[in-house]
Amino acid sequence: MKLREYEAKRVIKEYGIPVPAGFLIRSADEITGHIAELGDKFVLKAQIDVGGRGKAGGILMADPATAVAMAKELFNKQIKGLPVKEVLAEQRLEITHEYYLSITIDRSSKQPLILFTEAGGVDIEHTAKENPQAIRTVIANPLMRDIPPFLLRELLGTAPKEIGVIVNKLYRVFVEKDALLAEINPLVTTPQGVFAADAKIIVDDNALGRQGFTVNRDLSERERDAEKYGFSYVELDGAIGVIGNGAGLTMSTLDLIGFYGGKAANFLDVGGGAESERVMHAVRLVASVPSVKVIVVNLLGGITKCDEVAKGIISAGISQKVIVRLAGTNEAEGRAMLLAKGYEMLDTMDLVVKKAVEVTA
Ligand code: GDP
Ligand code: MG
Repeated sequence: MKLREYEAKRVIKEYGIPVPAGFLIRSADEITGHIAELGDKFVLKAQIDVGGRGKAGGILMADPATAVAMAKELFNKQIKGLPVKEVLAEQRLEITHEYYLSITIDRSSKQPLILFTEAGGVDIEHTAKENPQAIRTVIANPLMRDIPPFLLRELLGTAPKEIGVIVNKLYRVFVEKDALLAEINPLVTTPQGVFAADAKIIVDDNALGRQGFTVNRDLSERERDAEKYGFSYVELDGAIGVIGNGAGLTMSTLDLIGFYGGKAANFLDVGGGAESERVMHAVRLVASVPSVKVIVVNLLGGITKCDEVAKGIISAGISQKVIVRLAGTNEAEGRAMLLAKGYEMLDTMDLVVKKAVEVTA
């Protein structure tokens, strides 16, 4: 789950990384009470969950005279299609140089990877593409509590030494906050010292409970429902809803849809031993996706009983067409129940998928 800039800055500040003085406002008028704390020049930063905010107009410069008007302007904006509900007002830094620092997981070595470049700021994507050798990296062995000086030297090159202290602090944030990403871009030098002008932290979804979060804000309402019922669920953008049991069977159903030129609306694995109520929730969940025109149910009865599945499909009572392939335990009973209600039953997954693709073509 992504933390917003003001949340990430609160975290890194606790670990001793300097951040500009600032506060969060939820309406333009709230700024008047705080102007005295901000000094004579400040920045207003829209708190939205997309990158490239500065370039998209989400950062405005202001001063005490223009504060309310500028804040109003920002609250009235849509940044990359998103409404601005929160604004971070901060003392403006006198930036002399912008660096980039981040820590993430390197998937091949399965260890934390620290990235640093002197060419930080809003054009970091450009640097990564056009001048990748300007980004230096070191692998941090997770058994190390601190990054040793020789590695810091390798990472920082000719950048100011005091950044090494910040690397170590950010590394501690990364480890202790169960982060998948801890990023400061830009990390800036100013006449007053080094500051994190921006910050981003992504917390591993599997650690949200341990980190004190009760909901995953990044999930849609449907994804949250899916989590509640224990389904593995991923939303895609096609018109064919998919319900399977077992990740393998569900994935191969998706593959087959692609093979026949169709597009799946989702991946949903109901898991093993699904009784009728779970199946009903799964069918209703997939049917609630607006783009879904038809639903393929591809279930193999093992611990799962086909008559329970049939009961679940029938009790879901949805308006879209459901095409079913059931095989295994209590198959005959399940088929009889569905046939009696007029559901389309086909013998193989090849046939159900072909049929669904036809329906949506
Ligand atoms: P992002 O576009 O969402 O990454 O937003 P950032 O917070 O990284 O800001 C983008 C750019 O705005 C930075 O790279 C700076 O050039 C500029 N900026 C942000 N805060 C300040 C500030 O306090 N002073 C000055 N002079 N520039 C700033
Ligand atoms: Mg930034």
